[in-house]
Amino acid sequence: MHEVSIAQSILDIAITECRKADYKRINSISLRIGKVSGIKIQSLLFAFDIIKIDTIAQGAALICEEVPVVGYCPECHDNFEVVSELILACPECGGARFSINGGRELDIVEIDVD
Ligand SMILES: [Zn+2]
Repeated sequence: MHEVSIAQSILDIAITECRKADYKRINSISLRIGKVSGIKIQSLLFAFDIIKIDTIAQGAALICEEVPVVGYCPECHDNFEVVSELILACPECGGARFSINGGRELDIVEIDVD
């Protein structure tokens, strides 16, 4: 279950940032997680709830926002949102020469501290 190591990295980053700024407590950590990042949000939340115990993030909530998958079609010169798991063609022109840009990311967008 690689969500445990991901949760640990998020926690480590948050604690490091919090200490650097001389804060004592983490209230929440906001994340943006791509839909095709391969991360199961439920597993991540579960792992985080366990590893945060006895840290300055003990009372912290993990807020996860799912980011849609974005495709780019060079024929249309436009982005489109990928709604199905499997995409074979641009929904506008039916072209197959597209690239997938968004949806794989895992970013920490905000750490709320006291
Ligand atoms: Zn197109």
